[in-house]
Amino acid sequence: MIPLLDLKRQYKEIGSEIQRSVLDLLESGNYVLGPAIERFEVEVAAYCGADLAISCASGTDALLLALMSIDIGKADEVITTPYSFFSTASVIWRLSAKPVFCDIDTDTYNINPDLIEAKITDKTRAILPVHLYGQTADMDKIMEIARRHNLFVIEDGAQALGAEYKGKKAGTLSDIGCFSFFPTKNLGGYGDGGMIVTDNKELADKMRMLRVHGSSPKYYHKVVGINSRLDAIQAVALSCKLKYLGRWNEARRRNAALYNELLAKTDIILPKEDPDCKHIYNQYTIRCKDRDGLREYLKAKAIATEIYYPLPLHLQECFKDLGQKEGDFPEAESSAKETLSIPIYPELTEGEIREVADTIKYYTYINSISSKGFILNP
Ligand SMILES: *Cc1c(COP(=O)(O)O)cnc(C)c1O
Repeated sequence: MIPLLDLKRQYKEIGSEIQRSVLDLLESGNYVLGPAIERFEVEVAAYCGADLAISCASGTDALLLALMSIDIGKADEVITTPYSFFSTASVIWRLSAKPVFCDIDTDTYNINPDLIEAKITDKTRAILPVHLYGQTADMDKIMEIARRHNLFVIEDGAQALGAEYKGKKAGTLSDIGCFSFFPTKNLGGYGDGGMIVTDNKELADKMRMLRVHGSSPKYYHKVVGINSRLDAIQAVALSCKLKYLGRWNEARRRNAALYNELLAKTDIILPKEDPDCKHIYNQYTIRCKDRDGLREYLKAKAIATEIYYPLPLHLQECFKDLGQKEGDFPEAESSAKETLSIPIYPELTEGEIREVADTIKYYTYINSISSKGFILNP
C-alpha cells in the first residue's frame, strides 16, 4: 500500500525531538500564548522574510483574521478563485461579504490575473489569491492591479509555506500572507494551527487584538473579535519541524522531478512550474481526461490518490444564493473533473515513486491500445 501521505514515517525520524520539546512545554506551565508562541512567531517571520507574524488556531482563522483586520463586511466584495479549499471563500461569506470568483489559469491552477480587472466593481475591497498545490500565483500582475485600484491583497499560502516567487517567499508578496499547520500541509502540526505574516505593524496589532476577542487591554473590547490562538504545544512541535522544512520542501521537489522524468512520455498532463516560481509541491497534481478510471485503477493497485477539489466553490450548495451556475468558470470546472493528486511526501522512497509512475504508465498504455480497437484479455 502506498498512502497519499504517511505522517508516521516523519514522526519516526523526529519523534523523540518532538516529545522532548512538548514535555518541556508541559513543564513550563504556559499553554496559551506566552514565550513559546512568541518565539515561534519570530521564527516563522524570519523564515518567510516578513517583519511580523501572528499565530492563530487554523489556516481558516488566519484568513478570517486577515479579512477582519481590513474591516471586510457587508456589501464588500472580495475577488478570489473558485478552485481552492472551501475556507478561501467561506471566510469571505462568514463576514457577510461577497466572494467574487475569477477563473483560473490552465497551466498553474491559480487565479488568472488577466481576468481579475473585469471583476472589479466599486464594492471590491480585496483580492485573495491562493498559491494552490504549493506554487505561487502570478503576484506581480495581481499586485499591479491591486495598487491601481487601491485594493488589499491577502495571500492564501496554506499549501505554500516556503514556496518562492522571484526569490521572495510566499506570504510576503502582498499585504498579508496566511498559512495553515493542518497535519497534511507541508509544515503540519499535531492538530490544527495557523499563522499570518505581514510587514504592516498596524494590521498586525489589530490581528493580535482580534485573536483574543478584540480585547485591548484585557477585558476591554473596542471591537468584537474571536478566540483563535495557536496552542503552545503545537508551537514547540512546529518550531522543531520548521528546522527541517527547507530539506522537506527540497525532497518534495526531487520527488516531483523524478515523476516528471518517469511520466514524460505519456499523455498525462504534468504540473507546470512557472519559471518565476519555486514550487514546493504540497501536492503533485496530474491531469487526464479519464481521471476517474485512472484513480480506480491506482486504488486497485493499492496506490492512494486524492482529488483536490472535486466541486469548484461557485457550485457549492451553500453558495447557491450567489446565482452561479455550471459553465461560469470553465477552467475551474474542467480541472475539478480531470486532476488527480498522487503521493509526493518527502519520505516517499524512489522505489515507491517508480511503482506509482509505472502503474500510471501501464494504465495509459492499456487505455491507448484498447482505444485503438485491440481487445484486451480476450
Ligand atoms: C488547508 C487550507 C486552508 C485551511 O486551513 P485549515 O488550517 O485547515 O483551516 C485554506 N486554504 C487552503 C488553500 C488550504 O489548503
